[in-house]
Amino acid sequence: SPTLLWFRKDLRLADNSALAAAIELGAPIVPVFIWAPEEAGAWAPGAASKWWLHQALKGLREELRAQGGELILREGTSLAELRDIIKTTGATRVLWNRRYESSLRELDAQVKRALREDGLQVESFNSSLLNEPHTAATGSGQPYKVYTPYWKKVKDRPLPPLALPDLPAMRFPESFPWSTPLESLNLLPAIPWYRGFETHWLPTEAAARGRLDQFLSAAVEDYATGRDRPDCDGTSCLSPYLHWGQIGPRQVMAALADRTDLAGAGASVYAKEIYWREFAYNVLYHFPHTPDQALRAEYDSFPWESDDAVLKAWQMGQTGYPIVDAGMRQLWQTGWMHNRVRMIVSSFLVKHLLHDWRAGAKWFWDTLVDADLASNTLGWQWSGGCGADAAPYFRVFNPILQGQKFDPEGAYVKRYLPELRKMPAKYMHVPWEAPDSILEYAGVEIGKNYPAPIIDHKVGRARALAALEQFKSA
Ligand code: FAD
Repeated sequence: SPTLLWFRKDLRLADNSALAAAIELGAPIVPVFIWAPEEAGAWAPGAASKWWLHQALKGLREELRAQGGELILREGTSLAELRDIIKTTGATRVLWNRRYESSLRELDAQVKRALREDGLQVESFNSSLLNEPHTAATGSGQPYKVYTPYWKKVKDRPLPPLALPDLPAMRFPESFPWSTPLESLNLLPAIPWYRGFETHWLPTEAAARGRLDQFLSAAVEDYATGRDRPDCDGTSCLSPYLHWGQIGPRQVMAALADRTDLAGAGASVYAKEIYWREFAYNVLYHFPHTPDQALRAEYDSFPWESDDAVLKAWQMGQTGYPIVDAGMRQLWQTGWMHNRVRMIVSSFLVKHLLHDWRAGAKWFWDTLVDADLASNTLGWQWSGGCGADAAPYFRVFNPILQGQKFDPEGAYVKRYLPELRKMPAKYMHVPWEAPDSILEYAGVEIGKNYPAPIIDHKVGRARALAALEQFKSA
């Protein structure tokens, strides 16, 4: 009898634990994906993620078809759809890889219970983390809230082996149950605003491995410093692939370990970033309320301001601070933003503009192709000064100095702000200070074709610190 393989956030064939187990069983495999956004509650995939998912499902289906298989797509309630497929195929086993978001964890536990009661054999596996969150606790048995001790605890553990170093042939049934057409899942928006994404990304498993190889053959050497430069291609851009499981951290770490020839700190600094992802999952798992509430609960009463016009200016990259605006437009155009710039724009929103970190997290959720509940929550609470191992709120990034330090020639700004393309590097991060002759040469009219700063840096900083004082004394 067939084995039903339920794909979720593990859209790959290589190093897929549940698939490896299914292959080992030797029975025909029925691969299934169920689109059930309401099961993720308020955190159903956003618009950019849905675009990615559409492409990733298409890619996975092609991979399976190339092997003589199929990907059965369904929409609805997971349990009902699984039961329907089980009934049609006569499957007696259901396998999947685990998820860690609380609503999905609860759902998976219910589905597991219900199917077992139906008499099925159900098993789940780890395929998306090096160390699952329940495997690391402090000396007093508490979950870690600080990265470095967490990392020290897990860094020397032997790396988990790949589930399947080489993918053997899979067996499939002679006929498959009906499948919803991919287009009917309506993952693509009616208005094709995602055209820019198409020139940046190829959301397939093969492309993920290609990106990893490319990164390991070039940028990793200089990653220790290069990772902070948004004007260079210094990072791996693997985050959306890792989120959707088109590549797994075991594969990344194994490929890194193979590069024994690498000199310098690049490879070890990169490995530490993979452990930041693990840490984010650790925090989300142990503190499942954090996507909606600060880990440091007292920050939920911070005196945030709320101004739709201000929020909109930030979202659209119209704040008048070039590094902030370039970041927000990179996000809009490509569905991704460089990490250094994510730190700058998030700090700007919660400090200079005094807006709640949750407003920023929601916008990122809808616009990032790598939107990930664990990493996004950790990142936003880090900037908001209210999360695990967070930057203290009183540390206010200066968007001018950050721009000058990490985009010294203004190449990153020029890429995303065509209106500043002719601005000399000296004034790139302070265009409002440029003399009239330079503005005229560059074709920039502050307040007309590029905004004046939405708030003066010093005023914004002072206002943020005053709000912090007010909050502390309340
Ligand atoms: P690389 O530098 O090549 O790093 C490799 C991998 O390590 C990444 O793909 C990612 O999986 C992991 N990683 C690196 N930095 C971090 C980090 N700080 N936290 C957790 N994992 C990390 N990352 C997401 O994947 N999804 C998000 O929704 C997300 N939201 C963020 C929001 C804010 C406000 C901030 C400050 C950071 C956020 N990050 C998020 C973390 C980080 O910015 C991205 O993981 C990184 O920019 C992805 O680019 P890359 O793959 O080139 O990273």
